[in-house]
Amino acid sequence: MSAPTAEIIAVGSELLTPHRLDTNSLFLTSRLNDAGVRVIGKCVVGDDVRALEDRMRAALARVDILIVTGGLGPTADDITRDAVASVLGRSLFENAETLAAIRERFARRRVPMPEINRRQAMVPESAIVLPNPNGTAPGLMIEDGGRLVVLLPGPPGELQPMFEACVFPRLRARAPSAVLRRRVIRIAGRAESEVDQVAEPIYSALSVSRVDVETTILAAAGQIELHLTGSGGDADEIDRVLQAGVDRLSSALAPAVVSVDGRRIEEVVGAALVARGWKLAAAESCTGGLLLECLTEIPGSSAWVAGGVVAYANEVKTGVLGVPAGMIDAHGAVSEPVATAMVDGVRTKLGAEVGVAITGIAGPSGGTAEKPVGTVVIAVRTPDRHVVKAFAFAGDRRTIRIRSVATALDLVRRLTG
Ligand code: AMP
Ligand code: MG
Repeated sequence: MSAPTAEIIAVGSELLTPHRLDTNSLFLTSRLNDAGVRVIGKCVVGDDVRALEDRMRAALARVDILIVTGGLGPTADDITRDAVASVLGRSLFENAETLAAIRERFARRRVPMPEINRRQAMVPESAIVLPNPNGTAPGLMIEDGGRLVVLLPGPPGELQPMFEACVFPRLRARAPSAVLRRRVIRIAGRAESEVDQVAEPIYSALSVSRVDVETTILAAAGQIELHLTGSGGDADEIDRVLQAGVDRLSSALAPAVVSVDGRRIEEVVGAALVARGWKLAAAESCTGGLLLECLTEIPGSSAWVAGGVVAYANEVKTGVLGVPAGMIDAHGAVSEPVATAMVDGVRTKLGAEVGVAITGIAGPSGGTAEKPVGTVVIAVRTPDRHVVKAFAFAGDRRTIRIRSVATALDLVRRLTG
Protein backbone atom coordinates (compact mmCIF):
# COMPACT_ATOMS: atom_id res chain seq x y z
CA MET A 1 0.00 0.00 0.00
CA SER A 2 1.46 3.33 -0.93
CA ALA A 3 1.53 6.21 1.54
CA PRO A 4 -1.39 8.65 1.62
CA THR A 5 -0.51 12.01 0.09
CA ALA A 6 -0.94 15.50 1.48
CA GLU A 7 -0.67 19.06 0.40
CA ILE A 8 -0.23 22.10 2.66
CA ILE A 9 -1.54 25.58 1.95
CA ALA A 10 -0.26 28.40 4.16
CA VAL A 11 -2.66 31.34 4.08
CA GLY A 12 -1.60 34.90 4.88
CA SER A 13 -0.54 37.92 2.86
CA GLU A 14 2.22 38.58 5.40
CA LEU A 15 3.83 35.28 4.29
CA LEU A 16 4.26 36.74 0.82
CA THR A 17 6.47 39.54 2.15
CA PRO A 18 10.18 39.17 2.87
CA HIS A 19 9.48 39.69 6.58
CA ARG A 20 7.52 36.59 7.54
CA LEU A 21 8.33 32.99 6.82
CA ASP A 22 5.95 30.06 6.56
CA THR A 23 7.36 27.76 9.22
CA ASN A 24 4.11 25.88 9.88
CA SER A 25 4.57 23.78 6.77
CA LEU A 26 8.00 22.64 7.99
CA PHE A 27 6.56 21.41 11.26
CA LEU A 28 3.58 19.84 9.49
CA THR A 29 5.73 18.08 6.89
CA SER A 30 7.89 16.53 9.55
CA ARG A 31 4.91 15.28 11.57
CA LEU A 32 2.99 14.12 8.49
CA ASN A 33 6.03 12.07 7.49
CA ASP A 34 6.10 10.59 10.99
CA ALA A 35 2.47 9.58 10.50
CA GLY A 36 3.35 7.85 7.23
CA VAL A 37 1.95 10.59 5.00
CA ARG A 38 3.88 11.83 1.99
CA VAL A 39 3.73 15.58 1.36
CA ILE A 40 3.65 16.15 -2.40
CA GLY A 41 3.14 19.89 -2.53
CA LYS A 42 2.79 23.09 -0.58
CA CYS A 43 2.19 26.73 -1.30
CA VAL A 44 1.61 30.14 0.22
CA VAL A 45 -1.52 32.08 -0.71
CA GLY A 46 -2.36 35.67 0.27
CA ASP A 47 -5.60 36.61 2.01
CA ASP A 48 -7.59 36.29 -1.22
CA VAL A 49 -10.63 34.06 -1.23
CA ARG A 50 -10.59 33.32 -5.00
CA ALA A 51 -6.90 32.45 -5.01
CA LEU A 52 -7.38 30.18 -2.01
CA GLU A 53 -10.36 28.44 -3.57
CA ASP A 54 -8.35 27.78 -6.74
CA ARG A 55 -5.44 26.32 -4.81
CA MET A 56 -7.75 24.19 -2.68
CA ARG A 57 -9.55 22.76 -5.72
CA ALA A 58 -6.25 21.96 -7.42
CA ALA A 59 -4.92 20.26 -4.29
CA LEU A 60 -8.11 18.27 -3.65
CA ALA A 61 -7.90 16.87 -7.16
CA ARG A 62 -4.67 15.06 -6.34
CA VAL A 63 -4.20 14.42 -2.62
CA ASP A 64 -5.82 12.45 0.19
CA ILE A 65 -5.18 15.05 2.87
CA LEU A 66 -5.29 18.83 2.57
CA ILE A 67 -4.02 20.99 5.40
CA VAL A 68 -4.70 24.72 5.36
CA THR A 69 -3.06 26.93 7.98
CA GLY A 70 -3.93 30.51 8.92
CA GLY A 71 -6.79 32.77 7.99
CA LEU A 72 -9.04 31.52 10.81
CA GLY A 73 -9.03 34.79 12.73
CA PRO A 74 -12.09 37.00 13.29
CA THR A 75 -11.34 39.77 10.78
CA ALA A 76 -12.51 40.25 7.21
CA ASP A 77 -9.13 39.16 5.81
CA ASP A 78 -9.54 35.76 7.48
CA ILE A 79 -11.07 33.90 4.59
CA THR A 80 -10.20 30.24 5.12
CA ARG A 81 -13.59 29.18 6.54
CA ASP A 82 -15.46 30.81 3.66
CA ALA A 83 -13.15 29.34 1.02
CA VAL A 84 -13.45 25.79 2.34
CA ALA A 85 -17.24 26.03 2.66
CA SER A 86 -17.53 27.18 -0.91
CA VAL A 87 -15.08 24.65 -2.37
CA LEU A 88 -16.71 21.73 -0.55
CA GLY A 89 -20.23 23.08 -1.20
CA ARG A 90 -21.18 23.19 2.48
CA SER A 91 -23.09 25.87 4.34
CA LEU A 92 -21.63 27.57 7.40
CA PHE A 93 -23.55 27.38 10.68
CA GLU A 94 -22.88 29.11 13.94
CA ASN A 95 -21.83 26.42 16.39
CA ALA A 96 -23.22 27.15 19.84
CA GLU A 97 -20.62 25.16 21.74
CA THR A 98 -17.76 26.83 19.91
CA LEU A 99 -19.26 30.27 20.49
CA ALA A 100 -19.58 29.48 24.20
CA ALA A 101 -15.91 28.42 24.33
CA ILE A 102 -14.82 31.66 22.67
CA ARG A 103 -17.01 33.76 25.01
CA GLU A 104 -15.62 31.88 27.97
CA ARG A 105 -12.06 32.62 26.87
CA PHE A 106 -12.81 36.35 26.79
CA ALA A 107 -14.65 36.16 30.10
CA ARG A 108 -11.62 34.62 31.75
CA ARG A 109 -9.56 37.62 30.64
CA ARG A 110 -12.42 39.90 31.86
CA VAL A 111 -13.02 41.53 28.50
CA PRO A 112 -16.27 41.49 26.56
CA MET A 113 -16.13 39.43 23.37
CA PRO A 114 -16.00 41.71 20.30
CA GLU A 115 -18.94 40.96 18.02
CA ILE A 116 -16.58 40.05 15.11
CA ASN A 117 -15.29 37.03 17.03
CA ARG A 118 -18.63 35.32 16.34
CA ARG A 119 -17.17 34.61 12.90
CA GLN A 120 -14.81 32.15 14.53
CA ALA A 121 -17.77 30.05 15.65
CA MET A 122 -18.95 29.55 12.06
CA VAL A 123 -18.52 25.89 11.18
CA PRO A 124 -19.07 24.18 7.82
CA GLU A 125 -21.78 21.49 7.78
CA SER A 126 -20.63 18.23 9.46
CA ALA A 127 -17.16 19.54 10.28
CA ILE A 128 -15.43 18.43 13.46
CA VAL A 129 -14.36 21.36 15.65
CA LEU A 130 -10.82 21.13 17.07
CA PRO A 131 -10.63 22.99 20.37
CA ASN A 132 -7.94 25.63 20.73
CA PRO A 133 -6.77 25.91 24.33
CA ASN A 134 -4.18 28.52 23.30
CA GLY A 135 -6.27 30.97 21.28
CA THR A 136 -9.73 31.86 20.05
CA ALA A 137 -9.61 30.33 16.55
CA PRO A 138 -10.78 26.72 16.69
CA GLY A 139 -9.47 24.32 14.06
CA LEU A 140 -11.75 22.33 11.76
CA MET A 141 -11.55 18.87 10.28
CA ILE A 142 -13.81 17.75 7.45
CA GLU A 143 -14.14 14.32 5.87
CA ASP A 144 -15.11 14.78 2.25
CA GLY A 145 -15.53 11.79 -0.03
CA GLY A 146 -12.59 9.88 1.45
CA ARG A 147 -10.41 12.95 1.61
CA LEU A 148 -9.57 14.79 4.78
CA VAL A 149 -9.46 18.58 4.95
CA VAL A 150 -7.89 20.10 8.06
CA LEU A 151 -7.92 23.80 8.90
CA LEU A 152 -5.48 24.99 11.57
CA PRO A 153 -4.82 28.41 13.12
CA GLY A 154 -1.71 30.30 11.92
CA PRO A 155 0.19 31.00 15.14
CA PRO A 156 2.65 28.11 15.62
CA GLY A 157 1.99 28.09 19.37
CA GLU A 158 -1.67 27.30 18.66
CA LEU A 159 -1.21 25.09 15.60
CA GLN A 160 1.34 22.69 17.02
CA PRO A 161 -0.50 21.58 20.19
CA MET A 162 -3.75 21.32 18.23
CA PHE A 163 -2.08 19.17 15.58
CA GLU A 164 -0.57 16.87 18.19
CA ALA A 165 -3.78 16.50 20.17
CA CYS A 166 -6.37 16.21 17.41
CA VAL A 167 -4.84 15.63 13.98
CA PHE A 168 -1.85 13.33 14.42
CA PRO A 169 -3.84 10.51 16.10
CA ARG A 170 -6.44 10.76 13.34
CA LEU A 171 -3.79 10.47 10.63
CA ARG A 172 -2.19 7.46 12.28
CA ALA A 173 -5.56 5.75 12.48
CA ARG A 174 -6.14 6.56 8.84
CA ALA A 175 -2.86 5.14 7.55
CA PRO A 176 -2.04 2.35 9.98
CA SER A 177 -0.09 0.30 7.48
CA ALA A 178 1.64 2.95 5.42
CA VAL A 179 5.14 3.66 6.60
CA LEU A 180 7.55 6.32 5.47
CA ARG A 181 11.22 6.18 6.45
CA ARG A 182 14.07 8.52 5.66
CA ARG A 183 17.83 8.12 5.69
CA VAL A 184 20.25 10.97 5.19
CA ILE A 185 23.82 10.66 3.92
CA ARG A 186 25.94 13.76 4.50
CA ILE A 187 28.85 14.40 2.17
CA ALA A 188 31.63 16.97 2.24
CA GLY A 189 34.29 18.10 -0.19
CA ARG A 190 32.65 16.91 -3.41
CA ALA A 191 30.68 18.84 -6.03
CA GLU A 192 26.96 18.14 -6.42
CA SER A 193 27.38 16.97 -10.01
CA GLU A 194 30.18 14.59 -9.01
CA VAL A 195 28.06 13.09 -6.23
CA ASP A 196 25.07 12.79 -8.50
CA GLN A 197 27.10 11.01 -11.15
CA VAL A 198 28.32 8.40 -8.68
CA ALA A 199 24.97 8.04 -6.89
CA GLU A 200 22.53 8.03 -9.80
CA PRO A 201 23.12 4.44 -11.02
CA ILE A 202 22.87 3.21 -7.41
CA TYR A 203 19.68 4.92 -6.42
CA SER A 204 17.89 4.26 -9.65
CA ALA A 205 18.26 0.54 -8.81
CA LEU A 206 16.90 0.87 -5.28
CA SER A 207 13.13 0.64 -5.61
CA VAL A 208 11.92 -2.92 -5.31
CA SER A 209 8.45 -4.32 -5.77
CA ARG A 210 7.02 -3.50 -2.34
CA VAL A 211 9.19 -0.54 -1.37
CA ASP A 212 9.15 2.72 -3.23
CA VAL A 213 12.36 4.72 -2.81
CA GLU A 214 12.58 8.39 -3.64
CA THR A 215 15.95 10.13 -3.63
CA THR A 216 16.76 13.81 -3.34
CA ILE A 217 20.09 15.56 -3.50
CA LEU A 218 20.44 18.80 -1.56
CA ALA A 219 23.49 20.99 -1.98
CA ALA A 220 24.48 23.92 0.19
CA ALA A 221 27.81 25.76 0.21
CA GLY A 222 30.44 23.11 0.88
CA GLN A 223 28.12 20.26 1.79
CA ILE A 224 25.71 17.86 0.20
CA GLU A 225 22.92 15.70 1.57
CA LEU A 226 21.47 12.65 -0.11
CA HIS A 227 18.00 11.84 1.20
CA LEU A 228 16.56 8.38 0.66
CA THR A 229 12.86 8.17 1.45
CA GLY A 230 11.29 4.74 1.41
CA SER A 231 7.57 4.03 1.59
CA GLY A 232 5.53 0.86 1.69
CA GLY A 233 3.65 -1.39 4.05
CA ASP A 234 6.41 -3.08 6.00
CA ALA A 235 8.78 -1.00 8.14
CA ASP A 236 11.41 -3.74 8.41
CA GLU A 237 11.48 -4.28 4.68
CA ILE A 238 11.79 -0.51 4.03
CA ASP A 239 14.61 -0.28 6.57
CA ARG A 240 16.43 -3.17 4.86
CA VAL A 241 16.12 -1.60 1.41
CA LEU A 242 17.24 1.81 2.67
CA GLN A 243 20.17 0.28 4.59
CA ALA A 244 21.32 -1.52 1.44
CA GLY A 245 21.15 1.78 -0.43
CA VAL A 246 23.05 3.62 2.30
CA ASP A 247 25.75 0.90 2.31
CA ARG A 248 26.22 0.97 -1.45
CA LEU A 249 26.24 4.76 -1.65
CA SER A 250 28.66 5.16 1.23
CA SER A 251 31.16 2.72 -0.18
CA ALA A 252 30.97 4.44 -3.57
CA LEU A 253 31.39 7.90 -2.05
CA ALA A 254 33.82 7.27 0.84
CA PRO A 255 35.91 9.08 2.10
CA ALA A 256 33.63 12.04 1.35
CA VAL A 257 30.85 10.55 3.50
CA VAL A 258 30.54 12.50 6.74
CA SER A 259 27.70 10.55 8.35
CA VAL A 260 24.83 8.20 7.58
CA ASP A 261 22.96 8.81 10.81
CA GLY A 262 21.96 12.44 10.40
CA ARG A 263 24.90 13.87 12.36
CA ARG A 264 26.33 17.14 11.12
CA ILE A 265 30.03 17.44 10.32
CA GLU A 266 30.62 19.52 13.47
CA GLU A 267 29.25 16.67 15.58
CA VAL A 268 31.33 14.09 13.73
CA VAL A 269 34.47 16.17 14.25
CA GLY A 270 33.59 16.64 17.92
CA ALA A 271 33.14 12.90 18.44
CA ALA A 272 36.49 12.17 16.75
CA LEU A 273 38.27 14.71 18.95
CA VAL A 274 36.65 13.35 22.11
CA ALA A 275 37.67 9.81 21.13
CA ARG A 276 41.30 10.95 20.87
CA GLY A 277 41.18 13.21 23.89
CA TRP A 278 42.20 16.22 21.76
CA LYS A 279 41.12 19.84 21.85
CA LEU A 280 40.87 22.20 18.93
CA ALA A 281 42.02 25.80 18.56
CA ALA A 282 41.27 28.02 15.58
CA ALA A 283 42.98 31.06 14.10
CA GLU A 284 40.50 32.76 11.82
CA SER A 285 41.14 35.68 9.53
CA CYS A 286 38.56 36.00 6.73
CA THR A 287 35.95 33.89 8.57
CA GLY A 288 36.07 36.17 11.62
CA GLY A 289 35.02 33.50 14.12
CA LEU A 290 32.48 31.70 11.96
CA LEU A 291 34.25 28.36 12.40
CA LEU A 292 34.20 28.65 16.18
CA GLU A 293 30.59 29.80 16.13
CA CYS A 294 29.75 26.67 14.19
CA LEU A 295 31.67 24.35 16.55
CA THR A 296 30.47 25.91 19.79
CA GLU A 297 26.85 25.65 18.65
CA ILE A 298 27.14 21.93 19.40
CA PRO A 299 26.12 21.26 23.02
CA GLY A 300 29.02 19.83 25.00
CA SER A 301 31.63 21.30 22.66
CA SER A 302 33.55 22.59 25.67
CA ALA A 303 34.91 19.03 25.90
CA TRP A 304 36.81 19.44 22.62
CA VAL A 305 37.02 23.14 21.74
CA ALA A 306 39.84 25.10 23.41
CA GLY A 307 39.12 28.45 21.76
CA GLY A 308 40.54 30.68 19.11
CA VAL A 309 41.87 33.97 17.86
CA VAL A 310 40.19 36.16 15.28
CA ALA A 311 43.37 37.37 13.62
CA TYR A 312 41.88 39.80 11.17
CA ALA A 313 44.55 42.50 11.15
CA ASN A 314 48.14 41.63 10.30
CA GLU A 315 49.21 43.07 13.67
CA VAL A 316 47.12 40.39 15.40
CA LYS A 317 48.66 37.69 13.23
CA THR A 318 52.13 38.89 14.24
CA GLY A 319 51.47 40.17 17.76
CA VAL A 320 49.17 37.42 19.09
CA LEU A 321 49.99 34.43 16.91
CA GLY A 322 53.69 35.13 16.39
CA VAL A 323 53.60 35.13 12.59
CA PRO A 324 56.87 36.83 11.50
CA ALA A 325 56.16 40.23 9.93
CA GLY A 326 58.75 39.53 7.28
CA MET A 327 56.85 36.41 6.25
CA ILE A 328 53.69 38.45 5.61
CA ASP A 329 55.74 40.97 3.59
CA ALA A 330 57.39 38.24 1.56
CA HIS A 331 54.39 35.97 0.87
CA GLY A 332 51.29 38.01 1.70
CA ALA A 333 48.80 37.36 4.51
CA VAL A 334 46.96 34.87 2.31
CA SER A 335 49.69 32.31 1.74
CA GLU A 336 50.70 28.83 2.80
CA PRO A 337 53.61 29.92 5.01
CA VAL A 338 51.38 32.40 6.88
CA ALA A 339 48.54 29.89 7.32
CA THR A 340 51.08 27.41 8.69
CA ALA A 341 52.57 30.00 11.07
CA MET A 342 49.02 30.91 12.22
CA VAL A 343 48.12 27.30 12.93
CA ASP A 344 51.35 26.71 14.84
CA GLY A 345 50.88 29.97 16.75
CA VAL A 346 47.32 29.22 17.86
CA ARG A 347 48.15 25.62 18.86
CA THR A 348 51.02 26.78 21.03
CA LYS A 349 49.24 29.79 22.45
CA LEU A 350 46.13 27.82 23.42
CA GLY A 351 47.83 24.52 24.19
CA ALA A 352 45.56 22.58 21.85
CA GLU A 353 46.44 19.33 20.08
CA VAL A 354 44.58 20.31 16.89
CA GLY A 355 44.98 23.67 15.21
CA VAL A 356 43.05 25.15 12.28
CA ALA A 357 43.93 28.36 10.46
CA ILE A 358 41.93 30.13 7.78
CA THR A 359 43.23 33.13 5.85
CA GLY A 360 41.68 34.36 2.63
CA ILE A 361 40.11 37.04 0.50
CA ALA A 362 36.33 37.02 0.91
CA GLY A 363 35.82 40.10 -1.24
CA PRO A 364 34.21 41.89 -2.85
CA SER A 365 37.41 43.98 -2.87
CA GLY A 366 41.00 43.03 -2.06
CA GLY A 367 41.55 40.56 -4.87
CA THR A 368 44.56 40.69 -7.23
CA ALA A 369 45.37 38.92 -10.49
CA GLU A 370 47.57 36.48 -8.62
CA LYS A 371 45.18 36.06 -5.66
CA PRO A 372 41.64 36.78 -6.81
CA VAL A 373 38.61 37.06 -4.49
CA GLY A 374 37.85 33.58 -3.23
CA THR A 375 41.49 32.63 -2.64
CA VAL A 376 41.54 30.99 0.78
CA VAL A 377 44.40 29.12 2.44
CA ILE A 378 43.56 26.63 5.17
CA ALA A 379 46.04 24.86 7.45
CA VAL A 380 45.31 22.05 9.90
CA ARG A 381 47.81 20.47 12.25
CA THR A 382 47.28 17.52 14.59
CA PRO A 383 49.97 15.84 16.73
CA ASP A 384 50.81 13.53 13.84
CA ARG A 385 49.59 15.14 10.63
CA HIS A 386 49.69 18.47 8.85
CA VAL A 387 48.00 19.87 5.78
CA VAL A 388 48.06 23.31 4.20
CA LYS A 389 46.15 24.00 1.03
CA ALA A 390 45.05 26.93 -1.13
CA PHE A 391 41.49 26.96 -2.48
CA ALA A 392 39.69 29.07 -5.07
CA PHE A 393 36.09 29.39 -3.86
CA ALA A 394 33.36 30.87 -6.01
CA GLY A 395 30.52 33.05 -4.77
CA ASP A 396 29.87 36.23 -2.85
CA ARG A 397 31.47 37.20 0.45
CA ARG A 398 29.01 35.20 2.54
CA THR A 399 29.33 32.08 0.38
CA ILE A 400 33.13 32.25 0.39
CA ARG A 401 33.15 32.49 4.19
CA ILE A 402 30.73 29.55 4.53
CA ARG A 403 32.70 27.44 2.06
CA SER A 404 35.90 28.22 3.95
CA VAL A 405 34.39 26.96 7.20
CA ALA A 406 32.92 23.86 5.55
CA THR A 407 36.24 23.02 3.92
CA ALA A 408 38.22 23.59 7.12
CA LEU A 409 35.82 21.32 8.98
CA ASP A 410 36.22 18.64 6.35
CA LEU A 411 40.02 18.82 6.56
CA VAL A 412 39.84 18.43 10.33
CA ARG A 413 37.46 15.50 9.87
CA ARG A 414 39.79 13.77 7.43
CA LEU A 415 42.85 14.31 9.62
CA THR A 416 41.26 13.19 12.87
CA GLY A 417 38.79 10.46 11.81
P1 AMP B 1 -3.84 33.90 11.14
O1 AMP B 1 -4.28 32.61 11.67
O2 AMP B 1 -3.84 33.97 9.64
O3 AMP B 1 -4.57 35.07 11.76
O4 AMP B 1 -2.32 34.08 11.55
C1 AMP B 1 -1.94 34.66 12.76
C2 AMP B 1 -0.42 34.75 12.88
O5 AMP B 1 0.13 33.46 12.82
C3 AMP B 1 0.30 35.49 11.76
O6 AMP B 1 0.38 36.86 11.97
C4 AMP B 1 1.66 34.89 11.78
O7 AMP B 1 2.45 35.53 12.75
C5 AMP B 1 1.41 33.47 12.22
N1 AMP B 1 1.40 32.58 11.06
C6 AMP B 1 0.39 32.42 10.16
N2 AMP B 1 0.72 31.51 9.24
C7 AMP B 1 1.94 31.08 9.54
C8 AMP B 1 2.84 30.12 8.95
N3 AMP B 1 2.48 29.41 7.85
N4 AMP B 1 4.03 29.92 9.52
C9 AMP B 1 4.38 30.61 10.62
N5 AMP B 1 3.60 31.52 11.23
C10 AMP B 1 2.39 31.76 10.70
MG1 MG C 1 -3.76 35.79 8.51
